[in-house]
Amino acid sequence: MSDTGRLRELENENRVLREGVQQASRMHRLWQQALQELQATKRQLEASHAQLSVLYKIASAISETIDLQELFERIMDGMALALEPAKGLPMGIFLVEDDRMRLAAHRGANAAFIAVHAGMRVGDCLCGQAAATGELVCSEDCTSDPRRTLPVTSADPHGHLIVPLTAKGRAVGVFCYFVPCGLSLDAGQRDTFTAIGQQLGVAVENALLYEEARQLSFRDTLTGLGNRRLMELVLDRDLPNVRRYGRALSVVMLDVDHFKRYNDEHGHPAGDRLLAEIGAILRRETRDNDLPVRYGGEEFLVILPETDVAGAEQLAERLRSAVAQATAVTISLGIACATPARSDRPALIKAADDALYEAKTTGRNRVMIAGEA
Ligand code: GH3
Ligand code: MG
Ligand code: MG
Repeated sequence: MSDTGRLRELENENRVLREGVQQASRMHRLWQQALQELQATKRQLEASHAQLSVLYKIASAISETIDLQELFERIMDGMALALEPAKGLPMGIFLVEDDRMRLAAHRGANAAFIAVHAGMRVGDCLCGQAAATGELVCSEDCTSDPRRTLPVTSADPHGHLIVPLTAKGRAVGVFCYFVPCGLSLDAGQRDTFTAIGQQLGVAVENALLYEEARQLSFRDTLTGLGNRRLMELVLDRDLPNVRRYGRALSVVMLDVDHFKRYNDEHGHPAGDRLLAEIGAILRRETRDNDLPVRYGGEEFLVILPETDVAGAEQLAERLRSAVAQATAVTISLGIACATPARSDRPALIKAADDALYEAKTTGRNRVMIAGEA
């Protein structure tokens, strides 16, 4: 082969090689690009997985309880996991009550924070705004944030993330994180916290409804006093301590005299009004620690913690005379004090009932005391 032919051949080979190299580097670029995309997708998937697993953890924790206080504890446990930078910093849950906001639970909030937020209203400060708008509020440094209208002057610089707890499009409360200054959330995190807030909102609303129903089930609707169920609950809670620590506790049982006659003469609705009036007298004449309940029909019972027989007798006499003065009827009353031999609920109630019966049979409108058991 001539030199020229050989040269052309070499040039050809060279061109083919160059093209090969170009193609290889194109392939390499494409490969790199695909790899980057794959890694980005992997990161996104990992982030979504982390967010989903936080959501799942919180959802399963809250679905196991309907008790409001326990729910708050679980929410705080879950939220502590959901935002790593907030670890160890204070947190709190405000409930929306009409136009007010009440700090219902917290971890680590100091006395100054609690004092500043007493009497807070929807719309006040960062938490109030999250409640008013139902939207996440993120403040990278609240010392310079004009939205912060209730500053705690003694606090170190910090930021806040406020998650509204929403149910049916309305905030029933907010979850308040203290966070280090400068923390901001990306769109994915904001979506996650909004979703968490919706789950928690529904759980809080259900627990509030349950609490309300529970309260109602311990109330007597006619007099507004507690009912017999509440009395049983309180005595069963308190009597073991009376037994264990020798504390005093008395009960006064009372019954309207000749109430059948009053009903017959004035009609049942007037009888109802009279019972409500007696309920009001019981509330007015007893101390905050005492618990008057409607025992049933026209019978009432007052639980007097830390009260001995002399104290119980004073109260009973005061009630007797108040009813006699303020209404057209009289009442008879029986007192029993818890003693070692009479320290369970049935025995205590029976003793008071026996004393009341004695008051009835010896002339009514009087107080009798159960003898030593
Ligand atoms: P005593 O002095 O012996 O207690 O006589 P009493 O008439 O009060 O007792 P009795 O047990 O014979 O009657 C109780 C009456 O209380 C009969 C019942 O209709 C009435 N009563 C019970 N619950 C209610 C109520 O919720 N409203 C009204 N209006 N009356 C009630
Ligand atoms: Mg009766
Ligand atoms: Mg009666």
